[in-house]
Amino acid sequence: MNSSLNAARRARELAETRDLVVDVLVVGLGATGAGVALDAASRGLSVAAIEAHDLAFGTSRWSSKMIHGGLRYLAKGQIGVAYESAVERGLLLGRTAPHLVRAQPYLLPLLPEVSRRHATLVMTGYRLGDGLRAAARTPRHLLPGPSWISAQQALALASPLGSRGLRGALLSWDGRLVDDARLVLSVARTAASHGARVLTRCRALEVSGDGALVRDELAGETFTVRARAVVNATGVWAAGLHPGIRMRPSRGTHLVLRPETLPGLTAGLHVPIPGESNRFVLVLPQPDGRVHVGLTDEPVDGPVPDVPQAPEEDVTFLLSVLNSVLEEPVRREEVAGTYAGLRPLLDGEGRTSDLSRRHALLTTPDGLVTVVGGKLTTYRRMAEDAVDLAVSLSRLDAGRSRTAALPLVGAVPDDGRDDGRDDRNGGRRRGRDGGGDGNGGRGRNGRRGRDGGDHRAGGGGGGGTDRLLERYGSEAGAVRALMAEEPWLAETGPTGVTGAELVWAVRHEGALDVDDLLDRRTRIGLVPADREAALPAARAALTY
Ligand SMILES: Cc1cc2nc3c(=O)[nH]c(=O)nc-3n(C[C@H](O)[C@H](O)[C@H](O)COP(=O)(O)OP(=O)(O)OC[C@H]3O[C@@H](n4cnc5c(N)ncnc54)[C@H](O)[C@@H]3O)c2cc1C
Repeated sequence: MNSSLNAARRARELAETRDLVVDVLVVGLGATGAGVALDAASRGLSVAAIEAHDLAFGTSRWSSKMIHGGLRYLAKGQIGVAYESAVERGLLLGRTAPHLVRAQPYLLPLLPEVSRRHATLVMTGYRLGDGLRAAARTPRHLLPGPSWISAQQALALASPLGSRGLRGALLSWDGRLVDDARLVLSVARTAASHGARVLTRCRALEVSGDGALVRDELAGETFTVRARAVVNATGVWAAGLHPGIRMRPSRGTHLVLRPETLPGLTAGLHVPIPGESNRFVLVLPQPDGRVHVGLTDEPVDGPVPDVPQAPEEDVTFLLSVLNSVLEEPVRREEVAGTYAGLRPLLDGEGRTSDLSRRHALLTTPDGLVTVVGGKLTTYRRMAEDAVDLAVSLSRLDAGRSRTAALPLVGAVPDDGRDDGRDDRNGGRRRGRDGGGDGNGGRGRNGRRGRDGGDHRAGGGGGGGTDRLLERYGSEAGAVRALMAEEPWLAETGPTGVTGAELVWAVRHEGALDVDDLLDRRTRIGLVPADREAALPAARAALTY
């Protein structure tokens, strides 16, 4: 079946869903719910998946976009969680989403504040992480091993680092997403290609084990969806639908810097937080050239807002840790945007940063299954577990999960990548020698590094081939073809997004309004001034 989502398909499938009893109703379309829809649909079950707002409206778009190997869980002795993360990372990198997930180098700068003992301890952790990679059978060419590099090599990868007292850096690698909202979109479209009805702007008002009362937020009408099994995947909002669950959300804030604020940053940075031995502020160069800096971990009480806001104290904290390693400090007025997300943690003892990131499955007596917690990296495994439970509780006729071997929409087969992109994207090739040359993410084409030149992971500006390949994979050609239809479709806006991408999002990616286009199908909206500038193009795309 076609994977395209759009207003016409939504209207048709919404009408069908009212008269059907589906096998599985999924509530919430973040990474977890989209994963559940895909897992169930690809087992041959009939699926309706509803979302109150838009795909990836919730926490899934506010992440650090890292596909973790689970190192920090290893440090806490949560070996199972760490291994599960490493396995899922390997699947995403190598099989299911190689177009969306890349290897990203990170540096821990060895400044005087980092003692030799501390550095050795961190390197031991990185080596254990590399052992996890090997245990998860992720090949080195997808994810190089860690190494010590010199100060000169560190500055070549991250020229904004202060050179005074810099004696080198620890280089490590992990997975990173081109865009978290895009992962959700790809999973949801893949589910749609297996027949799932993906219905945005449909809010569950009440849920039970055999269906839900739903409000179509566009038409304002309520109706009932009947189902043999129901999975609540509403993340930090899960307690609102499942009696007895207690959540303890924790806020993570990121800063968004424009490309020109920290030029010459190819590698990400792990910046030690003063007074903490195993916590770091992350400096995360993005494929669009912006740099994100995160993240905090603060417990929050009270009602869960639709869109959390970043408080000024988080901004001050992140800037002060960031500036501790820079030659020239970033000023408050250079922070072009901020975003905050709430981790969907189940209530437990201790600091929120200590709560287990393992996911949980909970059921009500009438058979409602709630899947909560976990993280973006493990969405597939969470979904598999939730569908296994729903199938057994509701005695559905379904086989085993197939998603570990199921490429997402746009995935380019492994050997299809040897087309020259490897030399520009994330160091896959370079890593084949084990990544120990300290060359990190530089040297793809010799342009990255201290010159402060082009440091986008895609290498190119608007509609550039690399950029489109990284975001659209095998669909990049179709997006490029759309650019030829009219001059404005090839024009680029902020972050290099073309008009064609906006029109593509309306026709194939289920974007229904300017917010969907600017805040989720593209991430232009992370910088409010850029969002304002892109509004006319977004409006034009909706009526083209
Ligand atoms: C700041 C931060 C950084 C993070 N960084 C990373 C990272 O780098 N790597 C990683 O692996 N993980 C990371 N995580 C964790 C990860 O982002 C989350 O665990 C994951 O995105 C949760 O996805 P979800 O689908 O369960 O929830 P959500 O993405 O929140 O999805 C729930 C959806 O349910 C919808 N919904 C709510 N109520 C209803 C209703 N009544 N009817 C219909 N729909 C409803 C919401 O609109 C929402 O879209 C991070 C988390 C935070 C907060």
